[in-house]
Amino acid sequence: MTSAALLDRVGLRVGDLPCAIAETAFPVRVPPHYLGLIRRGDPDDPLLAQVLARGAELLDAPGTLTDPLAEAGFGMGQGILRKYRSRALLLAAGACAIHCRYCFRRHSDYGDTMLPAGAVDDALAAIAAAPEIREVILSGGDPLMLSDTRLAALLPAIAALPQVTNIRIHTRMPTTVPARVTPALCALLAGLGTPVVIVLHTNHAQELDGVVAAALADLRAAGVHLLNQSVLLRGINDTPPVAAAHARRLFACGVLPYYTHLLDPVAGAAHFDVPLAEARALEAALRADLPGYLVPRFVREVPGADSKTPIWALD
Ligand SMILES: *Cc1c(COP(=O)(O)O)cnc(C)c1O
Ligand code: SF4
Repeated sequence: MTSAALLDRVGLRVGDLPCAIAETAFPVRVPPHYLGLIRRGDPDDPLLAQVLARGAELLDAPGTLTDPLAEAGFGMGQGILRKYRSRALLLAAGACAIHCRYCFRRHSDYGDTMLPAGAVDDALAAIAAAPEIREVILSGGDPLMLSDTRLAALLPAIAALPQVTNIRIHTRMPTTVPARVTPALCALLAGLGTPVVIVLHTNHAQELDGVVAAALADLRAAGVHLLNQSVLLRGINDTPPVAAAHARRLFACGVLPYYTHLLDPVAGAAHFDVPLAEARALEAALRADLPGYLVPRFVREVPGADSKTPIWALD
């Protein structure tokens, strides 16, 4: 889809926006369910802002990079990233159903880094040879873009690794394409015999409508632990009322907030950036307003650190 076509679908014209739109090499992609949750005729809609390519994407902001996390050096084989001692991340799929404009992988060439079906055995052998790896994380792209057939081959093979105590899936599919949560997928996850954690990615309560809530209930009924990560985004979820309402809505859907990531300095996304001082003030406001278990950990990814870095520990 083009930016112009997206605007048309939500009943807006370019002149309604405070900014220009752009067509870039990372095309606009919006699945139908998510599109249906965007309020018609609202240029400030927080879901629209996540997927509409603005002219600002083409500006060169100082200090932004195309590989902001310096991930290029952390492979332990094709399709595997191991930055932290006890967890290995498999780049299981190269595509996403939605294109988030702030995505830190928007400049990645998945063709080079992704795990092809033919390399799965080598990847699992590499993990088996590193007994400190207790958890395998499927990421991407979006791993639930894989077919149930591919997942039915991959997940039990991971579960069979003797040292792996839990499997984690990082995905935006259950909320952007809730129909992906099929009975077959739930049965596969329920039958693994290894605990499964799904880390969803939502940024605003408006993403969690009744259809999404039902899909999440199906995952919970399959025994899956549900967590959420967000990215802190200027004008989308950077105020205490919006962030608190999001946390409460997640809880109502059986999901605990896990991380709120400060934006990585990725080229083309600087207009989403929220300064560190404001992030700290937001976190403090949430602590005062919410039970502790509904306050996400505010973190930034610091290249070379041995975990995500809490924002109180940043200079
Ligand atoms: C974020 C991340 C993880 C998971 O970190 P947690 O703090 O356990 O959620 C694992 N591997 C890589 C490469 C990551 O970027
Ligand atoms: S779903 Fe995740 S990986 Fe895919 S575009 Fe969005 S932020 Fe990037």
